[in-house]
Amino acid sequence: MPGSMAARRRCAASLAGDRNPRENMSSSRDRREGGELILDIRRFGDPVLRKPAFPLKKITREMLNLADNMLETMYAAEGVGLAAPQVGVPVRLIVVDVGEGPVVLFNPCVVRSAGEAVAREGCLSIPRVTGEVVRADRVTVEALGLNGHGVRRIEGEGLLARALQHEIDHLNGILFIDKATNIVEEQADE
Ligand SMILES: [Zn+2]
Repeated sequence: MPGSMAARRRCAASLAGDRNPRENMSSSRDRREGGELILDIRRFGDPVLRKPAFPLKKITREMLNLADNMLETMYAAEGVGLAAPQVGVPVRLIVVDVGEGPVVLFNPCVVRSAGEAVAREGCLSIPRVTGEVVRADRVTVEALGLNGHGVRRIEGEGLLARALQHEIDHLNGILFIDKATNIVEEQADE
């Protein structure tokens, strides 16, 4: 899920490569200072976005690396959330950062939700498109403990609640446009 409208606009432009295609190509798959990779974000129409993702039995080093790379990719795209299917890996892993620090969740599941809020959202996999989505205003999410067992529980409200719901939907092959009204598609810059 992209960040602010302004960030979303910048993000859509840079992802589409219509501002500076050369820079865009070279930054894709670049190894960052920390060793993280910028991954290719799959676009609407890619079948991986419509498949339910597999739960993880345990958290492997490979999955922790994937989470690091997803965070790096999300920050580079100026997004606030990213789900593993969006980088072509059909596992139940999401990363979110709404400005309060990174949250990495394996096998996340909404166990409680309350309230209702409507806001315009977009998706890094569907550049230039936004729509209004009704979601719970507060959620409690349970996920696999970071040591690979036990349960980790986080509570979110407002933007964090929205980002969590948006990203968890991705794990079930659901895209925000399935739920959105007043969908607007921005024209690409000439
Ligand atoms: Zn999305």
